[in-house]
Amino acid sequence: MARVLFREDEIRARVRALANAIADTYAGIEGPLTLVPVLSGSIIFVADLIRAMPLRLKLALIHVSTYPGRTTRAGEPKTVMALTGDVNGKHVLVVDDILDSGRTLASVCGLIREQKPASLRSAVLLRKPAGAQRVIDADFIGFDVSDFFVVGYGLDYDDLYRNYPHIGVLREELIR
Ligand code: 5GP
Ligand code: MG
Repeated sequence: MARVLFREDEIRARVRALANAIADTYAGIEGPLTLVPVLSGSIIFVADLIRAMPLRLKLALIHVSTYPGRTTRAGEPKTVMALTGDVNGKHVLVVDDILDSGRTLASVCGLIREQKPASLRSAVLLRKPAGAQRVIDADFIGFDVSDFFVVGYGLDYDDLYRNYPHIGVLREELIR
């Protein structure tokens, strides 16, 4: 890594705080909460988040690809795998790794809304400073981050580095 932005222990503390805020928000709902992790980048985040959340919950997965292969520029979000569960009438929380332009989150929320959920919110671990260009914001945000291409804690470059426990910026020569 060229730089480490967030270390493992700092991420753990913030994810626990997010889990508590989410649990408070949904404390009164009828039935379980349905989390929709956006694969693949959110896998580590969602694994830690749900274990810190004392709630009855279910998972429905969706796989969207925005940065295929060796690109560090966003393309059109493509649904690689459709939603695995039924979210009609359910309280739904979409979970993604990072929010930039918001096109990925907007496209997933659009697909879910077609199924008429009881409520729909979103949580992201990281948010980039896209400013006015962002088409949608998230309800729960872990950290605001500068406009670097980051990897680790689930986030990849060419499908690598997801298992790096911290979040960092790759050395320039590793991006080609
Ligand atoms: P958006 O659609 O909001 O512009 O981009 C969000 C998606 O792009 C995320 O789901 C994530 O997969 C990918 N993405 C955006 N920024 C980064 C980054 O810095 N690193 C990695 N690994 N993926 C990113
Ligand atoms: Mg993604």
